[in-house]
Amino acid sequence: MRSAAVVFLLPVALAAACSREPAPPAPEQLAPEQPARVPLTALPAIEPLRLLEQTRALSSDAFQGRKPGTEGETRTVAYLEQQFKALGLQPGNTDGTFVQDVRLVGLTPSEQRPLTVAGGGKTATFAWRDEVVAWTKHVADQASLENSELVFVGYGVTAPEFDWNDFKDVDIKGKTIVVLVNDPQVPSASDPSTLDEKVFGGRAMTYYGRWTYKYEEAARRGAAGVLIVHETGPAGYPFTVVQGNLGERLDLVTADKNMSRANVEGWLSLDAARKLMKLAGHDLDALKKQALTRDFTPVPLGLSASMAISNKMRTMGSKNVLAKLEGSDPALKDEYVVYTAHWDHFGVGQPVDGDTIYNGALDNASGTAMVLEIARAFTQVTPKPKRSVVFLMVTAEEQGLLGSAYYAEYPVYPLARTVAVINVDGINQWGRTKDLTVIGLGASQLDDYLREAATEQGRTLRPDPESEKGYYYRSDHFNFAKKGVPALYTDTGIEFEGKDADYGTQKRDEYTSRDYHSPSDEVKDDWDLTGAVDDARLLMAVGYRVANAAAWPEWAPGNEFRAAREKMQR
Ligand SMILES: [Zn+2]
Repeated sequence: MRSAAVVFLLPVALAAACSREPAPPAPEQLAPEQPARVPLTALPAIEPLRLLEQTRALSSDAFQGRKPGTEGETRTVAYLEQQFKALGLQPGNTDGTFVQDVRLVGLTPSEQRPLTVAGGGKTATFAWRDEVVAWTKHVADQASLENSELVFVGYGVTAPEFDWNDFKDVDIKGKTIVVLVNDPQVPSASDPSTLDEKVFGGRAMTYYGRWTYKYEEAARRGAAGVLIVHETGPAGYPFTVVQGNLGERLDLVTADKNMSRANVEGWLSLDAARKLMKLAGHDLDALKKQALTRDFTPVPLGLSASMAISNKMRTMGSKNVLAKLEGSDPALKDEYVVYTAHWDHFGVGQPVDGDTIYNGALDNASGTAMVLEIARAFTQVTPKPKRSVVFLMVTAEEQGLLGSAYYAEYPVYPLARTVAVINVDGINQWGRTKDLTVIGLGASQLDDYLREAATEQGRTLRPDPESEKGYYYRSDHFNFAKKGVPALYTDTGIEFEGKDADYGTQKRDEYTSRDYHSPSDEVKDDWDLTGAVDDARLLMAVGYRVANAAAWPEWAPGNEFRAAREKMQR
């Protein structure tokens, strides 16, 4: 794959990188609360050749697609450790190593006893896969519902910032809840044809809309079972995608073997939900209407549910890899800025055009390489950061953000002293942009840091054009956000310098259709990392300035993770 084109392209790019940024602003323009702020131009360089070479190494066939639990993992972990050591960074784990062990389990559910609903002299059975898709996260051979009382709980949301609580004071312990997918789509009072932007983000999806939230909230309240009503529009995908959950899924093994989760989690098809409500003497559409208001109270369905699921289990070990740069300030060094990137990909699999190695060059050898390059810049910056900076390469992102979930559950450094998280998942390989996409723009004050740095590069921030798809909840930083730590996640801009307006969209579509999660995600001859270098400098500047700032960055008022941060800090 190596080509001369790349080799002579990059030094030119490097020269350009140096001339891009204007002279540092005069001191009086600096924000007063950051007297020691180092201008972007004075930060150590990000070297495109190193970025490329590390991406090339991690995505080479020798690393076998970096699948957790394989020889590819062993080589990847060894490589990352060696890179961290070469930079003179300290072991990231407090046990003196560069790794954190992550226990994973593969669970494959099957039906042992069908879902049967009974009450008022009537019974109905629901067909596995066609009407009901269910599993248990319990690390156990079997889990069941035994005459568990059924309750419809609307959207199943507890959102203090929107003054919204679907459960009111109804105890659902031991019960099975039936819940709607997505978050409440509340029409605007002034124009009912549009959504109220102040309630659950309007069109944008909040975390309350994600199916994972429904199961987590149910577990917090001690429910025995959770059944989400599937609807293609609000879910964003057809029922066939839900049925895909019946294959093996990897999950964490927590200390309680996931016993704090509901016994049974699952989905009902829309027709099955209608059938259930009819049996209960209710109409699903009428219930849905009720659920769109703050006044909604849970509706007992007068029915009980029984079913049993058996599990096929397979446990395995994997590793997060981490290093630390200790802060220079004795009072602040026990506070942390964390950079994350997932090192894993899909390993060796089904051949496509005769190639079986899923190299994952962009996803996410490139992001891993960028965090390594940011780490190198941190070892050279003066003055040294006051707070400590942790570089965390997580495993099993592709299996459901598992390595980062494990870290967030068992953090090496307390999350209450973790000031911010900056995540890199894929980098810009198509040249310089005038803008930078921020997934969840406006979520926290980290965006203000980013905007200030971007301005120094003469660039602007743009929001995620597909906010209804909830991308903020789909990479590793999210596991930190959910626990309350402000987290930044950016994506490539779309205004490419010297290119047509549709160039960015065209390149992205090309990547998605040709290379995404395919063996052809490899380093290409035409990669131009000049834009990635610009982006890396911004992300380095944000982390560095946060590591030195007088105050911690906060979530924006009304953000769904703000309450978790406040609780953590009490
Ligand atoms: Zn990724």
